[in-house]
Amino acid sequence: MKKNIILMGAPGAGKGTLAKQLISLGLIHISTGDMFREAINEGTELGKLANSYIKDGNLVPDDVTIGIVRERLSKDDCKNGFLLDGFPRTLPQAEALEKMSKEISRPIDVVINLDCDEEELVRRISGRRVCKNCGAPYHITNKKPLVEGICDICGGPLIQRKDDNEESLKVRLQHYVQDTKPLLDFYQDKGLLQNFDSLVGMNVLFDEVSVFLKK
Ligand code: AMP
Repeated sequence: MKKNIILMGAPGAGKGTLAKQLISLGLIHISTGDMFREAINEGTELGKLANSYIKDGNLVPDDVTIGIVRERLSKDDCKNGFLLDGFPRTLPQAEALEKMSKEISRPIDVVINLDCDEEELVRRISGRRVCKNCGAPYHITNKKPLVEGICDICGGPLIQRKDDNEESLKVRLQHYVQDTKPLLDFYQDKGLLQNFDSLVGMNVLFDEVSVFLKK
């Protein structure tokens, strides 16, 4: 089975939702966005710094982001496999990841890219809701909770992410095109890239990706 995995795709392509489903394969989910949001909720220095970038849709500086991933990847629980969700997002991050994954002898097995057109990304992000407590993802039409406004899993309140607004989304999509999309060529050249159509829906996508990873 392929076990050290990078998940790529534009904001709203479904990385977080797929990652939460793939945890069932025994992989550790590492989301830099979740790590930053946790730090923001806890009010730490990292959280304050990250928030000053995230609120407007900008990228947190590479040195900070690389530092938190290096620390997380070196932990013991990653030895059976990890799913990187939202990292790397820039070329310096991808180069740093190459170096650190060699250092800890956990090389990347595959890069899964989720394809999604821009109109659908905007529709997904504008309707996205997340649980304030556990981060579980919902959508106002595609994935409604059983009770409106309440998380099915932990009973927490559903909220809209602060950066899921029109202004921030524009900036995030620009960063995706300028900084992150070029990484697809970087990984294609290394023979690691595998594309999946995210428009097939979350359950079909999960089945397709699971079958591929288990090969
Ligand atoms: P996400 O939850 O992956 O959409 O990330 C939310 C926000 O966190 C992004 O819009 C960035 O501001 C920040 N962020 C997450 N991952 C990274 C990264 N690898 N590099 C820089 N900023 C990041």
